[in-house]
Amino acid sequence: MKYNIFTVDVEGHVGTDPVNNLIYADLGNKGKWGIDKIMDICKAYGVKGLFFVDIAEAWDYGEEKIAGVLKHIQARGHDVGVHIHPDHMADRKRLFLWEYTYEEQYEIIKKCTEFYVCTLGKKPIAFRAGKYGANYDTLDILSKLGYLADFSEFYGQKWCGINPPLTCTKLVRYKSLLEVPTTAYMSFNQFGYSRFDKLDTNMDLGEFRKIVPQLVRSDEVDVIVSFAHSFSLIDWRTRKDSPKANLKLALQLERMFQCLEEKQSVKNVSLEQLLNETKERELIPSLKYVEMKGLKSFLYFGKRAIHVLKMKLSSKVVKGEIKDEHS
Ligand SMILES: [Zn+2]
Repeated sequence: MKYNIFTVDVEGHVGTDPVNNLIYADLGNKGKWGIDKIMDICKAYGVKGLFFVDIAEAWDYGEEKIAGVLKHIQARGHDVGVHIHPDHMADRKRLFLWEYTYEEQYEIIKKCTEFYVCTLGKKPIAFRAGKYGANYDTLDILSKLGYLADFSEFYGQKWCGINPPLTCTKLVRYKSLLEVPTTAYMSFNQFGYSRFDKLDTNMDLGEFRKIVPQLVRSDEVDVIVSFAHSFSLIDWRTRKDSPKANLKLALQLERMFQCLEEKQSVKNVSLEQLLNETKERELIPSLKYVEMKGLKSFLYFGKRAIHVLKMKLSSKVVKGEIKDEHS
């Protein structure tokens, strides 16, 4: 049996009102197309999501605003994890946790953990570093602070500082933590160039439908981590202060849920179920990966290149967001 867990990174990084526009995406009489729309779709498919809220934004956009986001997600019955983009609360120039010393990271993570405890009245269980930028110091600190799961490993992604990698797509234990890796696969490997990508709500639906069966069949995959951002269902890159609903992307998220639901050997789980069901299981790490092969890899590589080019041509694209992995 393989598991599938749906995760959402909840954050706003550009514009004059990121919490309203990129987290709630409150479009007035057109509805709320951020976390609420995502939670509506979750409800329709019986999915309990794990929402990683960038708590560092509390000291950038206002503690009350971010506390409100945490409470809102919990009130709608989903799990809330801790996500940290340290530049919002520490040093604007250092975007990755691995750029901070152990002591600095400890202070940052402890402060965010305390904020979570004060706001929700319980200890956080799960963590994902902003930009997957964790290193072994991060994992040691999480373990010391009593976390039970980390979702920062992203095999093949240079932003991830867990070197050497703990695992690729198998679950693994590290101290008190269950490491639940972002589902990475080699999307292209030709002419000496290769790249890894992840399952993302904004990826090409055809590519998702092609790679998911391969991941499901592979003995190298324990868990399929599907991924969204709070702003995954809106157009925001060229209109960060006036986002627009994207119906096609909302439908695509439903198709992705349907695709996973159809797989008999995949069980959709909440964070608690994942922890409970793997508690007694022997976990064996592996660095083997699933690879998209053949002509299809050229097709999706081309589509991705066009997508990136379109973003580059948009003069309003914010530096550092050319790749889709802005997480
Ligand atoms: Zn993030």
